[in-house]
Amino acid sequence: MVPTLENICAIHTRLEPQGSNALLAGLDRGDRSALLALATRENLSLGDVLCATGRTPSALWFPISGCIAEYKEHPDGRALRVAITGREGASPIPSVLAERPSATSTVCFSHGVAVRLAREHLTTLVAQRSSLLQSLLALSARQTVGAYQSAFCNAFHSVDQRVARWMLETAQSLGSTILHTTQEAVALDLGVQRSSIVAAFKGLKAEHLVRHTRGDLRIRNLDGLRKKSCGCEAHMSTENDRLSALKAVRLHHMPFALDGTE
Ligand SMILES: [Zn+2]
Repeated sequence: MVPTLENICAIHTRLEPQGSNALLAGLDRGDRSALLALATRENLSLGDVLCATGRTPSALWFPISGCIAEYKEHPDGRALRVAITGREGASPIPSVLAERPSATSTVCFSHGVAVRLAREHLTTLVAQRSSLLQSLLALSARQTVGAYQSAFCNAFHSVDQRVARWMLETAQSLGSTILHTTQEAVALDLGVQRSSIVAAFKGLKAEHLVRHTRGDLRIRNLDGLRKKSCGCEAHMSTENDRLSALKAVRLHHMPFALDGTE
């Protein structure tokens, strides 16, 4: 299957979302209240394109559950996942802050729920609240480091290592070790042949690190999978772990629940 954005959206089946947004939870209380007063709560539908390549994003999205992926598209139609954002962050920060056309397509990677802040409201808020701007710029900087790490990983690490990394990153963003997707979908995301992915999963299954049935990938041993990974995700995990810990912060003055409940 050709790894076009359309094929990628169609093949990811039903990833299960859980969790809340740690970035919102970690904001200064005044920033958070001001932001949520202008935001809306929206459902994420698998495969929906929130912003297409070349378009200026209409909003910034903070996943409460589920996750959003960024895909870089080549003129020949192929696409590659270059970033994933779950309950730890927001997307797409640089292009929406700069009010510039996006270099990637922002796509719902799973069903879920997100806080949506329209671009015009974001522009107004960051002009008034430097601390909010700083928080978003700090996250954007981390995401940039993640993109650099991905470029390094794609060039120097084996498919087996990258498969382990893909599973760890996706599980972290979803907040779940159950990934309802297929080996074909992983192959498209990583831009490698399906036969290479099949071989990688065969090794992981033999060591009882993952379980794979049709349309269902489950991590059975997180620590074991981390040892199989190249470790690229570990470079990013310290900051994300810190943010994840913030999800326990009790939130007040919310116009809607942040845990994905109605
Ligand atoms: Zn790597």
